[in-house]
Amino acid sequence: AGRKLPEYKVVVLGASGVGKSALTIQMTHHCFVKEHDPTVQDSYWKDVALDNGGYILNVLDTAGQDILRALREQCLAAGDGVLGVFALEDPSSLDQLQQMWSSCSQHQKQWLPLVLVGNKCDLVNTSGDADTAAAILAHKWGVPFVKTSAKTRQGVEEAFALIVHEIQRAQEAV
Ligand code: GDP
Ligand code: MG
Repeated sequence: AGRKLPEYKVVVLGASGVGKSALTIQMTHHCFVKEHDPTVQDSYWKDVALDNGGYILNVLDTAGQDILRALREQCLAAGDGVLGVFALEDPSSLDQLQQMWSSCSQHQKQWLPLVLVGNKCDLVNTSGDADTAAAILAHKWGVPFVKTSAKTRQGVEEAFALIVHEIQRAQEAV
């Protein structure tokens, strides 16, 4: 006891309505929120216990407004890694995410770990266009791609575990 756990700061990025808040709250509070104010930006904590000690997950749920400026600053200042979220049933949200991330990376001095997250998988029953496009994009960027549902919790823990893993790898590489 008394040993300080490592803390990982994850910034959740993406277009408005893709489920950033729902994913964050599902991960940290084990419930699905149907309506969350799209303009609210907040951070959430969760202790993740593992056999080898665990860690503190600190999630910054970003708001849609003024996203370009806000996200640049957040990416630069606050985050150890980023969950880049789009909605599988809305292919345009993948384009929006791509623009956000590109604009963000241009302003970064250092490379920031990223996981691509296709949310709302409960709403699509077969692999659609967004799915294929995301797999290609993830391959191009060299980042993991995971499908989630903030509603059913499918893939949610995996998405956060993946970004923590990417952050740990990046820190070990220094
Ligand atoms: P944000 O603007 O990215 O924070 O999006 P929200 O988390 O506020 O979600 C926008 C809407 O999509 C809300 O009505 C949510 O209930 C809904 N939603 C979010 N994630 C999912 C999901 O995985 N499945 C389904 N069916 N609805 C979702
Ligand atoms: Mg939100």
